[in-house]
Amino acid sequence: MHELIERARPVRLVIFDVDGVLTDGRLSYSSHPDAPEKEQSKVFHSRDGLGMKLLMQAGLEIGIITARSSLAVARRMADLGVPHVHQGQQDKLATYQNMIEHLALSHEQVAYMGDDIIDLPVLRRVGFAATVADASEFMQSHCHFVSKHHSGQGAARELCEFILNAQGRWDETLAYFLR
Ligand SMILES: [Mg+2]
Repeated sequence: MHELIERARPVRLVIFDVDGVLTDGRLSYSSHPDAPEKEQSKVFHSRDGLGMKLLMQAGLEIGIITARSSLAVARRMADLGVPHVHQGQQDKLATYQNMIEHLALSHEQVAYMGDDIIDLPVLRRVGFAATVADASEFMQSHCHFVSKHHSGQGAARELCEFILNAQGRWDETLAYFLR
């Protein structure tokens, strides 16, 4: 636990995968031919959204990298005010490298939460690699942090709170709500 806290302390950028992290991973397909992938609906959890907002209010950078592309994700991220939204990224590692270069950050200053093997190249580089309770044992074995909550059910929120706690910011965050 102490090592995890040490890993979370320098984090300045938190990146989330979408399907299977911010959602439960299920994809809704309509039989209608005019409803392609871009039109798919997604189910997000409000508690994950607030966690992401709290991280941003604490001054951290937030982003998503997803291989898919949908208007629902664009709308949800716009609602939350997430600044770094990268959809349709088949090569997540290249996108990640561009992001940290753009923000002038080192691997140690990044946390990434992903759930599947497509996330491994990034997870193997970041200082804080996180996954969800329902990810495979193989994925969990490659991550420093495994949430107790399942994907789309508060896993992302758990990561947000852990980082704020490790950085000594959680009390000041709570203080606002305990007024
Ligand atoms: Mg995923």
